[in-house]
Amino acid sequence: MAFRRRQTRAGERVLRLCAVLALPVAAVLAAAVLRLSRPDPAEVEQALPDCVVRDLLPVNEWSRPGDSLKRVRGIVLHYVGNPGTSAQANRNYFASLEDGELGVYASSHFIVGLEGEVVQCVPLTEIAYASNTRNGDTVSIEVCHPDEAGAYAPVTRERVVELTAWLCQAFRLDPEEDVIRHYDVTGKLCPRYYVEHPEAWAALLEDVEAEVEAQAAAEP
Ligand SMILES: [Zn+2]
Repeated sequence: MAFRRRQTRAGERVLRLCAVLALPVAAVLAAAVLRLSRPDPAEVEQALPDCVVRDLLPVNEWSRPGDSLKRVRGIVLHYVGNPGTSAQANRNYFASLEDGELGVYASSHFIVGLEGEVVQCVPLTEIAYASNTRNGDTVSIEVCHPDEAGAYAPVTRERVVELTAWLCQAFRLDPEEDVIRHYDVTGKLCPRYYVEHPEAWAALLEDVEAEVEAQAAAEP
């Protein structure tokens, strides 16, 4: 009897130990599987939507260092801070930094313009100089705006929602967790309107979430 009870207790201890170990082990395994299944930026680059016009910056120290972006864990939204300028003008500004005369490091993967146009400056396989400590694991979207307040114009906002949702789908990101403002990285007032109006930011994220679902439903 005593021997059997000891055996039972030992069995219970083993079971308890398994239960305690199982959770962290499962979490580690799930994280590893998720990492392995995160899409390769090179593949996503090949599948970009038609609205994207590629006008890549020349590889240079100041705006396109050519360092590889291995995994994308987030999307960072910005505003150009220069009211009324076009996506092309901002792309050309980034390109003009290459001689180093201004001593400014700056760029972005995408710029969404006042007419909803999208210019790509840096391929998804490389980092851009937009989001400070998150340059190494995020895709950046700069956005043009008509005035100082920095709200995106309706057609621009619509395109930002569409592109951000597409990138969330492509990189298997969660809009609520993984789409952030430059402000969330450094505390910088960028994108200004969506820092000063948190409810407008929340509404934007909700629209991205709905668009992710709409795009997923529309997939063949
Ligand atoms: Zn910014």
